[in-house]
Amino acid sequence: MTTPPVPPSGAPRPKFRDSAVVVLVRGRGDALEAFWVQRSEAVPVQPGFHAFVGGKVDAADTLLPLDGVDDEFERAARACAIREALEETGVLVALEGAADAATLATAREQLLAGTVTLPELAERHGWRFDASQLTFAGRWQTPAFAPVRFDTLFFLARVPEGQEASIVPGELEHGEWIRPADAIARWERGEVTFAAPILWTMRDLAVGEENLASRLADAPRRASTPARLVELQHGIVLHAMKTRPLPPAQHTNAYFIGERDCLLVDPGSGEPEALEELFGVADLLATQGRRVKLILVTHHHPDHTGGVAACRERFGAPVVGHIALSPHLKLDRVVGDGDSIELPSGHTKWSLKVLSTPGHTRDHIALWLESRRVLFCGDLVPGGPGSVIIDPPDGDMGDYLATLDRMAALEPATIFPAHGSPQGAAVRRIKALAKHRREREVRVLAALGDSERTLAELLPLAYDDTKPELWPLAERSLLAHLMLLEKGGRAVRLGERWRRG
Ligand SMILES: [Zn+2]
Repeated sequence: MTTPPVPPSGAPRPKFRDSAVVVLVRGRGDALEAFWVQRSEAVPVQPGFHAFVGGKVDAADTLLPLDGVDDEFERAARACAIREALEETGVLVALEGAADAATLATAREQLLAGTVTLPELAERHGWRFDASQLTFAGRWQTPAFAPVRFDTLFFLARVPEGQEASIVPGELEHGEWIRPADAIARWERGEVTFAAPILWTMRDLAVGEENLASRLADAPRRASTPARLVELQHGIVLHAMKTRPLPPAQHTNAYFIGERDCLLVDPGSGEPEALEELFGVADLLATQGRRVKLILVTHHHPDHTGGVAACRERFGAPVVGHIALSPHLKLDRVVGDGDSIELPSGHTKWSLKVLSTPGHTRDHIALWLESRRVLFCGDLVPGGPGSVIIDPPDGDMGDYLATLDRMAALEPATIFPAHGSPQGAAVRRIKALAKHRREREVRVLAALGDSERTLAELLPLAYDDTKPELWPLAERSLLAHLMLLEKGGRAVRLGERWRRG
């Protein structure tokens, strides 16, 4: 395998975190296998997803001597790939010569414990690395929907003779060797969730080793030509549209769901440029036999409905939503709790159940795809840090908590939210949100104390952990908490002031 050049780091990459991924392979021909892992439920980024091993470049990575690599980012990324492979799988790649198993096991433990760095280990053991044994396999940048974005160099490496890959449970749940074609089949059936670079890498591996390095290096370009499909599960395409949602989000995720006739959910922007991009994705899907036949809106907020009229016209598809949405938007059909939306079956039976899920707004609906335990949760669960704004009277804290409990009881595996990143560990995430709200309620009660207080007086007491610039939004949620307490007789409103009930 020859190594194509890595594209230069070039222009500043302000929002990205440098990282590296190492695709470990073994075997040849039909027996070629790649090592992949499932991330644990507890990690903040992509919990529950499948991935290759890798991670962020750390400061010590820049210090590892690597001959023949001039670009600073590339050198650090290669060092990072070597370190991550050793930490996460116990395999030491790109070493000149050999290392014995006991030395590697100790080195791994020390690295994981943080008592030593890779450059220190290299010096101690006289390790020299041959950068050319790490084949450049593409430079991938996380698309804009994700709250945390990575600029990642992928490398391909053969597991050295005599070494075995193994996982230490922690950040990773599980690791295994898999034939690339089997990984793709599992993805098509919706059994695994992973990011586009994994899919493209598996596809290129499945074709075989001929021209593999140059195909992998070119994969990011092919993946975004003519449009980039973010399809973390087969049949669920996420397209982030630039909108003006509440901070910290900047995009609304529109979803194309289905393998043939598709449902389009929440096309949130009416801006011509954003619509052109969305139509570009739709055109690409159409070449694969996937056409938008129905448009669904989760709730009436403008960052979810902005593009609906234009999409209705473009696709000639009816628009559906909850009946309470109709004063805000022209609906062609209403749907309510328990209704189902049936799309043609493919690898998956696309039967989506509508759930009426008030709390964020009265008209909010979510979609439950039981065959895959997938929940399209609109604005009920943010796909990143922070919580959802509950703005009375449309927002209702009691309803919201009941909705969260109901969603957790479904035991979804993966949530696809309207803002931020989809995530595994769905039940854990939903329960954490409910717990956070109940803890906030305790703080609000404590803030009420024995005197009468205005919202402005309560805010710094009950939201002292929230940045002051977010207080205007927090004030709405504070009011929602007080109204719920009032309902239960635990708070009393006296004009602009509140006291304990
Ligand atoms: Zn909303």
